[in-house]
Amino acid sequence: MRRPSNEIVISAVLPVYNEAGVLLNIFRRVRLAIKATGARQEIIFVNDGSSDGSEAILDQLAADNPQVRVLHLSRNFGHQAAVQAGLAHAQGDLVLLMDSDMQDAPEALGRFLLQWQAGYDVVYAIRSHRQEPLWKRCLFAGFHRTLAAIANTPIAVDAGNFSLIDARVVREIVRLGERDRYFPGLRCWVGFKQKGIEIRRLARYDGRPRVSLGGLWRLAKTAIFSFSTFPLAVFSLIGYLALAVFSMLSGYSLYCRLFTELAVPGWTSHVLIGSFFGAVNALGISMLGEYVARIYDQVRGRPVYLVDRGVNLQSGAESTATIVSAAIEEDITHEQLLTDSAELLQLIEETAQMSEQNEPSDVNGY
Ligand code: UDP
Ligand code: MG
Repeated sequence: MRRPSNEIVISAVLPVYNEAGVLLNIFRRVRLAIKATGARQEIIFVNDGSSDGSEAILDQLAADNPQVRVLHLSRNFGHQAAVQAGLAHAQGDLVLLMDSDMQDAPEALGRFLLQWQAGYDVVYAIRSHRQEPLWKRCLFAGFHRTLAAIANTPIAVDAGNFSLIDARVVREIVRLGERDRYFPGLRCWVGFKQKGIEIRRLARYDGRPRVSLGGLWRLAKTAIFSFSTFPLAVFSLIGYLALAVFSMLSGYSLYCRLFTELAVPGWTSHVLIGSFFGAVNALGISMLGEYVARIYDQVRGRPVYLVDRGVNLQSGAESTATIVSAAIEEDITHEQLLTDSAELLQLIEETAQMSEQNEPSDVNGY
């Protein structure tokens, strides 16, 4: 059961890079949006090395409003780093992560919160009605679909950072030690109960994105290399194809050499050597790649699993034998077993009815 919103604290986290023109406005909107839910609030601005006066405005906001916290980074570290810094400092029960450039409407918080109350741990926005130029929209759409198709774990399509995340999930994301971070991917990777809802992506207030095209390109590469080993699989595919070509060529050139007059002197050995070493090279690279991928995995040190919750877990090092013998010794009568299963059946029926109403395909359905 979730607590009512008047008993919780919501932390809004907003990365800021040269957004002086909009800070007061976005602060007011976020404050009102959280107030409307009845929750207590904390608004964390992460100043990612701004040089346009954002620093002074944020300091003033913090001086005037006790719920405002500001983290000034020592220089510009980039959007993803700023997000990580903000999340690491959030102390609320829920974190509303959003951009500070008016593209994410804080008024969507109410819809997010409803889903959290319904049991979801992560509610993220699926961006609809994007306002960027057509070529950029096509690139974004292509990137998201490619990533979803080749990623090793399911990754939500058309989702950015804008989301409401339960604090325990935030803690897990912050703990992931990798340096190259693609937040929407990490948020999917940690699991728990997730739901995407369509939210209109608004236009940037000044039309000048702070993340450059180069930055977007690097982020796309981070996303692909952090969540997919497909580029390596391509190399092993090339290796096997080269092997097949070598086999066919060697058969044909040997046939020409031994049974016909077609072979030019030296041709057979050239073809055999060339195609053989081509195949060996590609296969060798793909095998090296397998080791590199495993080393990367090991160095990155993502946990092998995360626990959502446990039931009847024994604390300490109680052995399986003790648990089993305790279960055997427990005096469970036949009637008790029957009533237990009747309760279980009723629970299963109720859950089925609930999930019919709740469109279950969206639970971790990405
Ligand atoms: N941002 C940041 N550091 C940067 C670039 C951007 O903290 O180096 C912030 C920026 O102020 C905004 C958010 O990250 O709040 C998203 O930036 P932008 O709007 O440029 O990205 P886009 O919406 O185009 O993906
Ligand atoms: Mg933006």
